[in-house]
Amino acid sequence: MTVPTPPAQCLLIVDDDPSAILLLSRILEGEARIVFATSGEAALRQIRDHAPDLVLLDASMPGLDGLETCRRIKADAGSAEVPVIFVTANADLQLETRALELGAVDFIHKPVHPPVVRARVRAHLALKQKTDALRRLAVVDPLTGIANRRAFDDALDQEWRRALRHGHALSLLLVDVDFFKRYNDLHGHPGGDACLRRVAGVVTAATRRAGELAARYGGEEFAVLLPHASLAQARAFAQGLCAAMEGAALPHGDSPVGPHVTVSIGVAGLVQGCRDGGAGDRSCHACELSGPCRAGPGQLVDLADQALYQAKREGRARVACLQGTVPGASP
Ligand code: GH3
Ligand code: MG
Ligand code: MG
Repeated sequence: MTVPTPPAQCLLIVDDDPSAILLLSRILEGEARIVFATSGEAALRQIRDHAPDLVLLDASMPGLDGLETCRRIKADAGSAEVPVIFVTANADLQLETRALELGAVDFIHKPVHPPVVRARVRAHLALKQKTDALRRLAVVDPLTGIANRRAFDDALDQEWRRALRHGHALSLLLVDVDFFKRYNDLHGHPGGDACLRRVAGVVTAATRRAGELAARYGGEEFAVLLPHASLAQARAFAQGLCAAMEGAALPHGDSPVGPHVTVSIGVAGLVQGCRDGGAGDRSCHACELSGPCRAGPGQLVDLADQALYQAKREGRARVACLQGTVPGASP
């Protein structure tokens, strides 16, 4: 078995003095792909463009100095996890303390000692690689390689709050493989696993827009989150997904609904225009209570689950939709 080599890591060197950048680049040649910036402002742009795995940051620069640059890196959710090593000309304990408090992971003192620089950079790049691998493991379903339940729950929570805040629509699909127990019984459990991978591929291929998320919700059930999609748009998406499953034509030797693997899909929509989000005195469409909105993302899942149950009851290999009648918000 060949183990794929991980993509080369990227190192950002930030210093207002180009000769310092040149020196560090020479010392660190071959350790990572190197990009550089000669100011704090340029460093923030490089971080957005290259998503580096490690930043070597000069402490004293005109304009944004090292401390302020580090503060901004850590304040942005998109870059907060990037490790930052400060490079300083003076052994100023106050500066070191402040930098560590801001989230820096280490220090390199000028004039630099090449073996020390290489060793420190290597150690932090290796640590970053392990952290990234663990982060991936935490959000990816091992069987299918798509987002797992935890990643889905986090995304749903975020999108729910965003939808309430901005009055956007939000729709959710629960996709369940029909007669999958029979599939396993006939084709064997490893065959069932392979089938779930194929279904995951079809579900993922259907999500093309930014923000759409396909996840394995559990067992033979998948979830699709469609931010901004109205119930009508989500219904069309779900019908397209049923058709794509037909198109994939995965043989099912023991399904009462047909010769191929089919799915049933429950669709739930959050009514556009619910802006209450826990305040205000208008009636909330999502929880149908007058007064503050008490609906939560769990209720969208419950609704999709009810719709899925309906699709199963009505004969499977079909879509059922529910909107705006989330029950059970306690007063
Ligand atoms: P329905 O049409 O009502 O959804 O019937 P079903 O047989 O699909 O549903 P049921 O809940 O009775 O069975 C689900 C089956 O999915 C049972 C379980 O063994 C199987 N399953 C769950 N996770 C996995 C998995 O990771 N791999 C395999 N091969 N099977 C799985
Ligand atoms: Mg400087
Ligand atoms: Mg099933």
